[in-house]
Amino acid sequence: MDLTEPQIPEAPTSTGHPRQLYMLFFTEMWERFSFYGMKALLLAYMITQLKFDEPKGYAILGSYAALVYTMPMFGGIMSDRFLGGRKAVMYGGILMTIGHLVLAVPQDWSFFYGMAFIICGNGFFKPNISSLVGTLYADNDPRKDSAFSIFYMGINIGAALGGLLCGYVGQQINWHYGFGLAGLFMILGLVVFAVGKKSLGQNGLPPNPDDLKAPVFAGVSKEVVIYVATLAIIPVIVALFHRYEIMDFIMFGLGAISILYILFIAFKMEAEARYKLFAALVLIVFSTLFWAFYEQNAGSLNLFAMRNVDMHVAGVQLPALSVNNFLPPAWVVILSFFFAWLWPALNRKGMEPNTPTKFGLSFILVGMGFYVFYLGCQTSEGSGLIPLLTFIAGYFFIICGEMCISPIGLSMITKLSPPRIVAMMMGIWFFASAVGEFLASKIGSLMSVPENVVNNPVLSLPYYADILNQIGLWSLGIGVVLILLGSVIRKWMGEVR
Ligand code: GLN
Repeated sequence: MDLTEPQIPEAPTSTGHPRQLYMLFFTEMWERFSFYGMKALLLAYMITQLKFDEPKGYAILGSYAALVYTMPMFGGIMSDRFLGGRKAVMYGGILMTIGHLVLAVPQDWSFFYGMAFIICGNGFFKPNISSLVGTLYADNDPRKDSAFSIFYMGINIGAALGGLLCGYVGQQINWHYGFGLAGLFMILGLVVFAVGKKSLGQNGLPPNPDDLKAPVFAGVSKEVVIYVATLAIIPVIVALFHRYEIMDFIMFGLGAISILYILFIAFKMEAEARYKLFAALVLIVFSTLFWAFYEQNAGSLNLFAMRNVDMHVAGVQLPALSVNNFLPPAWVVILSFFFAWLWPALNRKGMEPNTPTKFGLSFILVGMGFYVFYLGCQTSEGSGLIPLLTFIAGYFFIICGEMCISPIGLSMITKLSPPRIVAMMMGIWFFASAVGEFLASKIGSLMSVPENVVNNPVLSLPYYADILNQIGLWSLGIGVVLILLGSVIRKWMGEVR
């Protein structure tokens, strides 16, 4: 039996998708609840509780976000080569649970250690849960895009609830309770997967189980070595948080290595597979820029929401962190229905945009979203507060952009990568968002507001307005370039749309 060949489940549910998709959906939903619940609190916690100055807060946020999405590359390789997706998801989930619970401990030491556990755990969890979805369908199965859209909805239901509840509990009641709440929901995700994973059949089993169990030294198996070696990385990550300036070199170095590595693999392949990898590479590189703009959400826009958005609704002051972290995933959930209808409808008319065009559109839409924020700033100079409706409208465009890149990218990776390296490629896809989020924190840092004006919206507003405008313009320009490059990329993709 070839364990690297995916086993396509039969007997779909009434939605036309196998029931295993829903098991993965709920696992990921609760995991993202905890992930985004925690992330909602991160920057504001550092600035208001740990009293980091703003540039340092952005730098630590950027380092966390960069590492949390760098580790999937390693988690992907470990899974392709040794563990298989199922063991990787279980191990990653356990580490993430520990990380969230450590963050709930109200001690200074817990902060960096909690993040380090989450970083390692996410490395094993995130790429593998996504590539397990891919194993349920053949590459040319037209249900694959829609499966990823459904899965993406699970991600965002979790993210919306997590942002809302943890954001509220953390900001209004106690920051550590907020982190702890995230941990409880991670446990729930783990339980769903532990119970449901058998239904995956041979999908996600280790590619070579005997090799994995075989002792490598002193009777200890390869599997245990992988687990222990991962734990050994945790203090290294903590040290990196203390010396976050080094992150610039690490991200630049790893970025260059991963591009070279994909090229190296591509050149060893037959022409068709090689060009598919080229196409994937170009789209991955562009996605980095997308995340650099988009991820202002977890950084500068959290503080912008606290300072410069009018959160009063019917005489009630809404908690800014909850609102800012609930809005994007909530828009994703709502818009998923629209896009689930739109793509097939356009397809029937032969008018569905191809993948590079969708990527280009995503930049144009994000650009429009940031431009709406900017216009909000321009018209609110008197009070310094932009209306909540403008904030909601800006996110509408940004999330339309996300719908054109993020789920499409996941699906694109599983289609363009040879099965043997699909989890690693998924890891590289997430690594692109690591570089993107790292850049996002640098952009965010340009919007640092001096201590003496943080409580004065009229004076803090100009620190945001100009950069928001520039993000909008850059994003529009990049979108146009990408659309122009579309025909070359499409040729490389072969018959895959
Ligand atoms: N919001 C999505 C998720 O959590 C995408 C994240 C990413 O690719 N950086 O899965």
